[in-house]
Amino acid sequence: MAYRHVFTDGTACDLPAGKAVCVGLNYAAHVAEMGSAKAAEPVLFIKPRTALVPLAGEIAIPVDRGACHFETELALLIGAPLRDCTPAAAVEAIAGVGIALDLTLRDLQKQLKTAGHPWERSKGFDGACAVSEWLHPAAVGPIEELTFSLAQNGISRQRGHAAAMITPVPDLLCYMSRWFTLEPGDIVLTGTPEGVGPLAPGDVLEVVLAERLRVATRVVGR
Ligand code: ZN
Repeated sequence: MAYRHVFTDGTACDLPAGKAVCVGLNYAAHVAEMGSAKAAEPVLFIKPRTALVPLAGEIAIPVDRGACHFETELALLIGAPLRDCTPAAAVEAIAGVGIALDLTLRDLQKQLKTAGHPWERSKGFDGACAVSEWLHPAAVGPIEELTFSLAQNGISRQRGHAAAMITPVPDLLCYMSRWFTLEPGDIVLTGTPEGVGPLAPGDVLEVVLAERLRVATRVVGR
């Protein structure tokens, strides 16, 4: 089933599904757990539209390509074109706030990094971006105050607070828009806090955003 943007309150969303522009290493504690060096500038990558799948209900992970990790990230739905934009324009263009899992084939990513190759196959494969329904921005309050979490089989794994981002949302959107025009229907993933780990078929995940959005999903293999 093709992915479509949906609001939690059932209001229609006529924005087409687009690309996902993502940032790596945007929380200091995750940089440390990966053993990575702090980057001088945001580390950007893109997941194609074909990576998007709904988060709720069930997500399918590859079982024959090494470890597949969850990265729980605050996600933004873009509602207006952004190109070389100002921070004010960036915030104005946010049409939805949600959660996405940046699914990552970690073993493959390590191989590609070691070889000096692009990460694409490890993060852009079909189904690599599981996206929640969207909350209207007016309903969630200031983005920098948002918190989110992921529990795996009832055990808390990740807790994020937008205030801890190395590059905060308005600056991040501006930076992204200098390289990649953000179009209506595109989404932005804002990086993962610490606590990433492997998924296995049969896992039950619960994702919570600001106590306003609660999503349950089951992991299956494919
Ligand atoms: Zn990520």
